[in-house]
Amino acid sequence: MTSRVLVVDDIEANRRLLRAKLSTEYFHVTLAVDGYDALERAVAEEPDVILMDVMMPRMDGVEACRQLKADPRTEHIPVVLVTALNEREDRLRGLGAGADDFLTKPVNDVHLLSRVRALTRFKMVADELRKREASGRRLGSIDLATSVRMTEPARILVVDENERQARRICRYLEGLHRPISMTEASQLGVSTALVDLMIISMSNERVDTLRLCGYLRSLEATRDLPILLVADVSEEKAAVRALEIGASDIVFKPIDHEELNARVKTQVRKKRYLDMLRQRLDQSMELAVTDQLTGLHNRRYMTGQLVQFLNRANRGGSPVSILMADLDHFKKINDFYGHNAGDEVLREFSRRLQDNIRPADLACRFGGEEFIVIMPDTTAALAVQAAERLRVKICERPFQLEPGESLNMTMSGGVATVRAPDDTVEGLIGRADDALYRAKRGGRNLVEPERAPASSPSQTT
Ligand code: GH3
Ligand code: MG
Ligand code: MG
Repeated sequence: MTSRVLVVDDIEANRRLLRAKLSTEYFHVTLAVDGYDALERAVAEEPDVILMDVMMPRMDGVEACRQLKADPRTEHIPVVLVTALNEREDRLRGLGAGADDFLTKPVNDVHLLSRVRALTRFKMVADELRKREASGRRLGSIDLATSVRMTEPARILVVDENERQARRICRYLEGLHRPISMTEASQLGVSTALVDLMIISMSNERVDTLRLCGYLRSLEATRDLPILLVADVSEEKAAVRALEIGASDIVFKPIDHEELNARVKTQVRKKRYLDMLRQRLDQSMELAVTDQLTGLHNRRYMTGQLVQFLNRANRGGSPVSILMADLDHFKKINDFYGHNAGDEVLREFSRRLQDNIRPADLACRFGGEEFIVIMPDTTAALAVQAAERLRVKICERPFQLEPGESLNMTMSGGVATVRAPDDTVEGLIGRADDALYRAKRGGRNLVEPERAPASSPSQTT
């Protein structure tokens, strides 16, 4: 997939140069001539990265960056500011405005490409999460500024064999964050999952920093963990290589205290943004498979699972049985005690169901006051026993509504078991429903098995 880069510069020659460099690396480049133009294009084009000159008339790059980061439509787009060499003030102002990175003029090709790649990679992960979340459930726009609590101190692991340097870095970060230093990278892996950021020195001798970056990127737990490298100017080549492998950013020695803090802030902000997206995605995925009233699996999820168990059983795998359970005379509860009481009964029923099945069984709300329990690896005889046990669990003890108000409830159940090799979900559920109907007809508070397969034409009850 081609990444799109928006290049913003007031000087045409600069725009052309950057476009040429990026186009040879197959980036799709669009151009903007100043800050205002950049804001409009960022909204319209949704680029993957914005490369922006700082010195521009009308609105400079830092201000444009600040506005991009304040707008929910564009806050997720990484911004790289391009400053004149040694414009320390611009750099700090830019980091304060939320810029994700810097390049100095004249722009070094290797830096340009590695930075743009590192940022597009972050953007791709974030986009993927946002997209999946959007397809799962709409949760409104993400307001980075308010939802990501930046004031909370970050846990930062400093990996530096040089104890003095490690202590200095920690001292720079203390007050705002909670740094921990570690002189042996071999101690790693203990609790990286609890860390928000790692600062790793390129000059470590007992560990290969490039390998370490690659390793951290390969692990599920640390895949999104930001890695900030501390490098000597002489280590530039290796540092750039580390960026390609997955390090997030570099600070060069001598370490500037403010720059370090600004870069740390940017990385932590990104990390928390991804964490938040992931968490929300997990929530929306959970919502998509859960019944809101009872917390049991919903019908959609149940059907998906049942198809899989059934296919396996049809192909000669272990049998699967289902129980279709239905509360007896439930409508009366609603009629006499109100809908809320009815809901409470459904919740208590679900709890009893859930508490009295095996861990491998899946309790699902099929609809209204009908439930299905999928029992993998369960023969008909065992399923009937399990269903009978559940029936007793429902009727043996009254349902407590409000204190002092209790109701005697019963359930009826129909049990069916897969008929390999060509059973269907509809067939299986249909037979369980049939059995349930017979239980109702038989006087309720009963469990009935399905009729035998070679059911004779003489229908007797
Ligand atoms: P039977 O013993 O034959 O099963 O009778 P029943 O009254 O339990 O069954 P019926 O199908 O006649 O009524 C089911 C009722 O369940 C009707 C519907 O209003 C109620 N119901 C369905 N979903 C909910 C819900 O989420 N909350 C509440 N409170 N009631 C629900
Ligand atoms: Mg300029
Ligand atoms: Mg009922």
